[in-house]
Amino acid sequence: MTAPDDRSALMGTYAPAPVVFASGSGSELFDVDGRRYLDFLGGIAVVALGHSHPAVTAAVVKQAARLSHVSNLFANELAAPLAEALDRLVGDGTPLGGQVFFANSGAEANECAIKLARRVGGRGRHVVVSAYGSFHGRTLATLAATGQPQKHEPFVPMPEGFRHVAYGDIEALESAADPTSVAAILLEPIQGEAGVVVPPHGYLAAVRKLCDEREILLLLDEIQTGLGRTGRWFDCQHEGVVPDILTSAKALGNGMPIGACWARREVADAYEPGDHGSTFGGQPLACAAAMATLTTMEEIDAPRLALERGSHLSEALRELDGVASVRGRGLLLGAVLEDDIDASALSGLALSHGLVVNAPVPSVLRFAPAYTVTDDQSDEAAALLGQAIADARRRAPRREGAP
Ligand code: PLP
Repeated sequence: MTAPDDRSALMGTYAPAPVVFASGSGSELFDVDGRRYLDFLGGIAVVALGHSHPAVTAAVVKQAARLSHVSNLFANELAAPLAEALDRLVGDGTPLGGQVFFANSGAEANECAIKLARRVGGRGRHVVVSAYGSFHGRTLATLAATGQPQKHEPFVPMPEGFRHVAYGDIEALESAADPTSVAAILLEPIQGEAGVVVPPHGYLAAVRKLCDEREILLLLDEIQTGLGRTGRWFDCQHEGVVPDILTSAKALGNGMPIGACWARREVADAYEPGDHGSTFGGQPLACAAAMATLTTMEEIDAPRLALERGSHLSEALRELDGVASVRGRGLLLGAVLEDDIDASALSGLALSHGLVVNAPVPSVLRFAPAYTVTDDQSDEAAALLGQAIADARRRAPRREGAP
């Protein structure tokens, strides 16, 4: 079934979609014609507990019948307990006493973080240094922080105050982060949109040290890597790093739109009433979904599950002819393809075989399935991908002598 064509009432910000999905359960999706697909993209690292998870569905239904929205002129019963739960997970089980601002998306969570860094840095010390290849969102400030000049190009001039350096290179950061102008360093612990790029081990810890020495804020964007996906509650915990500001979204509501900007108490204190806000951010319906998501994640030990299921999936992918290597951690994996295969064409072929994945860059397929994905489903996904690779090679046969 083909999605809206060029006469659609939807703006053309996305390429025409080949499928219209109607329902989902766990790691399965069904299109409007009832065809089954295996979802190994998880709504781009969002549906961590699987589609239509009963606890999240029940929480949303119950809350919708009770109270959906009151505005942030008033408190609601859910936002503060949810902030406490998130603070505890940022502390890997130990409350850190930090504070949270709730937004509706990842980009908004990062907007909150960038504004907070400017508030702390003060006039003149407002620069945010981030990495080439990064992705931080589509609003103007988060786009400016995003280290992909080709995405800036149609919208220049970009907001002022953003600098980029090579990812994973501590010396490049040392040169760029002068403490007189730089308020914060903003990084993803793994660059998901760049094709699941993992920096050298020790990089984050070295960045933390640099930030401490120069009194620069460390702002970690864990929107894609966080909430168990890479085998810890937040990926920075692999290196024992606690940032000054951490942003979360995607998996937080298991599909309900919610983002969060967490900050150490002394940092969060820089915000005063009126400095930042959102009509919907932290509203009861989204908070109910997020609370049910976090509670369930703790019950099932989400980080352990992501590690175990991720190790099976990465092994299954590694065995495929056409996959040169597999990188990433837990259930955020990138299959690096051999040179003769185009990832974008392959993701289209995989879809035609009933497998949902995507190609963030031309050489890599990304996998970010639900933590509840079974090993049998991973084996089935690898088999479907194998068929898609064979199709791709039939269409564009390998050149003699090609690697
Ligand atoms: N930061 C990272 C690391 C992301 O992966 C994304 C989305 O892919 C964002 C920010 C933006 O999140 P959203 O699309 O919810 O605004």
